[in-house]
Amino acid sequence: MSSQTPISAQQLHDVAAAAMVHAYAPYSDFRVGAALVATDGTVFSGCNVENSSYPVGTCAERGALAAAVVAGHRSFTQLAIVTDAEEPTSPCGMCRQALVEFAPNLQVTSYTTSGAEACWSLADLLPHPFTPQSLHLT
Ligand SMILES: [Zn+2]
Repeated sequence: MSSQTPISAQQLHDVAAAAMVHAYAPYSDFRVGAALVATDGTVFSGCNVENSSYPVGTCAERGALAAAVVAGHRSFTQLAIVTDAEEPTSPCGMCRQALVEFAPNLQVTSYTTSGAEACWSLADLLPHPFTPQSLHLT
């Protein structure tokens, strides 16, 4: 989805909610949709994709990130997540690490299908991250 004007919070929520519908979560029954906004406003969505070999499963957030990177995007401003959980869910540790590589200043908003929401900065969710600088490569 490409956007010339900044996407509204409601629109971003709707993209994540639409992605959640496609989640493949027969093992956990925990469906997640994510929508990631690139710096130029383009939005990429993802859903969790579980596997009978449990560790093979991937999260919605990393699905959206992979879709964005393969399209040539490497800088992001916002992430929206939608779940059926009772309380807004933050990205798991692995996704936090994946996202900080490209978007240390990312703003994360998590929604439940029942209408609750919470907002965090990725910097608050993952203080003292491991970064490319940690490898002394940059
Ligand atoms: Zn995750």
